[in-house]
Amino acid sequence: NTPESRAGAVLTIDLAAIEDNYRLLQRRVGAAACAAVLKADAYGLGAAHVAPVLRRAGCRHFFVAHLEEGIALRRTLPAAQFADTQVFVLHGVPPGAEMDLLEHQLTPVLNSRQQLDAWRALARQLGRALPAIVQADTGMSRMGMPPAEVDAWLDSSDPFGGLALQYVMSHLAVADEPDHPMNGLQLARFAALRQRLGGIPGSLANSSGIFLGADYHFDLARPGVALYGANPQPGQPNPMRPVVTLQGRIVQTRRIAEGDYVGYALSYQAPGERTIATVSVGYADGWLRHLSNRGHVLVDGVRAPVVGRVSMDSITVDVTGIAPARVTPGALVDLLSADQTVDDVAALAGTIGYEILTSLGLRYHRRYT
Ligand code: PLP
Repeated sequence: NTPESRAGAVLTIDLAAIEDNYRLLQRRVGAAACAAVLKADAYGLGAAHVAPVLRRAGCRHFFVAHLEEGIALRRTLPAAQFADTQVFVLHGVPPGAEMDLLEHQLTPVLNSRQQLDAWRALARQLGRALPAIVQADTGMSRMGMPPAEVDAWLDSSDPFGGLALQYVMSHLAVADEPDHPMNGLQLARFAALRQRLGGIPGSLANSSGIFLGADYHFDLARPGVALYGANPQPGQPNPMRPVVTLQGRIVQTRRIAEGDYVGYALSYQAPGERTIATVSVGYADGWLRHLSNRGHVLVDGVRAPVVGRVSMDSITVDVTGIAPARVTPGALVDLLSADQTVDDVAALAGTIGYEILTSLGLRYHRRYT
């Protein structure tokens, strides 16, 4: 973490907002438990900072994608305090890594017969049942056992031997489009499978899934992006509190004449005299190059449009008409704020909030409030 005095830019992460967002989602799922998805270092915001706050808010189930993320998370959390939490590894058991999961108190999501058998082999060796989640593919064809594999598993002798099955889970492909028929189809397939498994606890909903209604909640919801402030219901007012503020620093300003160009490829030409400020955030910091000539920064509450291409370490903005005292070198300007949210920037860049968050680079000075 670069000292703020030397940093070009400042990323502020509002942990109190994450806590509030968790509480809102927990209320929303009622009697079901609410997990937190902390993969990719809590969507780039710092799992070591986020996890303790969520635990304080009552969260006891954390999901990461990879074994290594699970190990890193366990290492950063004080064992005494986090003994009552479970860390689930979405990608399950990497071949030969069963003992690593066990050693670090990580619970695999078993996504295939191969993973299932590997975990059960370890259980047999140890002479005790091992905790696990089984994931079934209900329509996304990405992770989890396809229907035929589930059938073969359930038809095998002693299918649950060696397993202390905690949940059956699946993942929704289009939860952010509430009217899409795939949601109902996945729900029906999931509910039927859960019944076949004797009604064991189920987990289906991600952030958007929580807002599809109580039918989707089952016993454990798994929100990620909504905790970090993105809107789980695109097109509707965002019920989540914003979490991320990003400020860049003005490096220098210049006057340019009508007809002068700005930036690589000369993609912006001044229609008249302009004042251009160079700001210390570029695509290496996650300000995607696709944001060239798009969006704005806020200078003391005044919008200054981005002009020209996004460079690796800087963008150029049009600050014409803004008082020179406000655009002196070193002044902070807002890139992500209530005025231009992660979702707004994602829309401008033709992507999703997830990608904006997880692209935010490591060069920022990070402030946790
Ligand atoms: N569950 C699984 C299996 C996931 O892969 C993810 C993230 O993509 C989540 C839950 C959390 O999703 P979201 O961030 O949309 O809430």
